[in-house]
Amino acid sequence: MMATDIERLLAFDRQHLWHPYASMTQPPPANLVASALGTRIRLQDGTELIDAVSSWWCMVHGHNPPAVIAAIQEQAAQFAQVMFAGFTHRPAIELAEALLAVCPPSLNRVFYADTGSIAVECALKMAAQYQVAKGRPKRCRMATIRGGYHGDTTGAMAVSEPAGMHEIFHGIMVQHLFAPQPHCEFDQPWRDDDFAPMAELLRKHRDELAAVIVEPIFQGGNAMRFYHPEYLRQLRELCSELDILLILDEIATGFGRTGKFFAQEHAGIVPDIMCVSKALTGGTIALSAVLCSGEVADGISSGTPGQFMHGPTYMASPLACAAGCAALRLFKSYDWAANVRAMDVQLRRELAPCRELANVKAVRVLGATGVLELAKLPSYERVQEVVMATGVWIRPFDHWLYTMPPFITTPAEISRITAAMRMAAE
Ligand SMILES: *Cc1c(COP(=O)(O)O)cnc(C)c1O
Repeated sequence: MMATDIERLLAFDRQHLWHPYASMTQPPPANLVASALGTRIRLQDGTELIDAVSSWWCMVHGHNPPAVIAAIQEQAAQFAQVMFAGFTHRPAIELAEALLAVCPPSLNRVFYADTGSIAVECALKMAAQYQVAKGRPKRCRMATIRGGYHGDTTGAMAVSEPAGMHEIFHGIMVQHLFAPQPHCEFDQPWRDDDFAPMAELLRKHRDELAAVIVEPIFQGGNAMRFYHPEYLRQLRELCSELDILLILDEIATGFGRTGKFFAQEHAGIVPDIMCVSKALTGGTIALSAVLCSGEVADGISSGTPGQFMHGPTYMASPLACAAGCAALRLFKSYDWAANVRAMDVQLRRELAPCRELANVKAVRVLGATGVLELAKLPSYERVQEVVMATGVWIRPFDHWLYTMPPFITTPAEISRITAAMRMAAE
């Protein structure tokens, strides 16, 4: 592409396209992408960047895995889309079969949606409708922990950190119940008082509560922090005792990111409802799924009106389901768990020295995620400078500079990533 074409496109973009979490009058710089393959994104001007954030945590197998792209193409040649009401299709069925093979056996009912936020909306509605069906309509509130992130739609925002990025929308959100953020970090000793505030909250409000929703182990978008598995074990136990449903949002943690296939495995617990998305299609195309137990599905179906009242237009998109089948098969084609273990070791080793930097408040690593918590945010300009100088695509948000690389990233590439993070943190 000619330099003048690139300029024209970027000028139009600046004028008319709203980017995520961005100003329209002072848009942050945007790089024009030409192609992406494996760990690399190539820009129109020829620059090649290592994608250290897996394009928002999705591309676990790298960009454009050939088998996934072929599956999308093959499906597109048959039919790209068909309504899921009154029809079903092989990609949706086969993906559900593949999901059931990797999910806890009790989660064997699958509701497809199109994005992570919508999966969360569906999970919350399932919990609420389950309680109505059980003759407990007053149980319509949710409980969660501070520091959570569950998406950008109104229902999902209402169970996310209230003082976070969604604070301005306080007025349009349902008021749910928040326990403090767990104190004990993943690899610290457990202290029993850590769960006490949540226990108190649940016991006090049990008659109003439909469900508890949390991100298991790794609080992403609003905290970038790993908490202790014992918290989840006690949460599971108390939810069962009080007959409150437990929803686990595995949208970021699912499919290997924390070292286990699902983060709940660190605690050895199983929720009643679970949301997956992001890496479900290898990050190639939007898709999410909500899995629930027979108890939840049968409860809803035996109540009034008996149907679960949700149905996105692009529910069970055949293209996305075909991509999902191929992406799940890819986990069997290489030792992703060994790669993630090796990344954990290397990220710890190479990020630990950043603790000495004046601007670094904390360093955290678990599985294929490494986080520097900063005192002072780097500017867009500074980050862009580092990106161009190092050839590593990093993208801080709030005061976190982090990497969540594809599982196929090589040790040499990880070293380039940690060097870039250090440079941006300085
Ligand atoms: C990204 C994310 C979501 C929202 O997913 P979208 O596809 O962006 O709507 C929800 N929950 C968690 C834990 C996430 O990381």
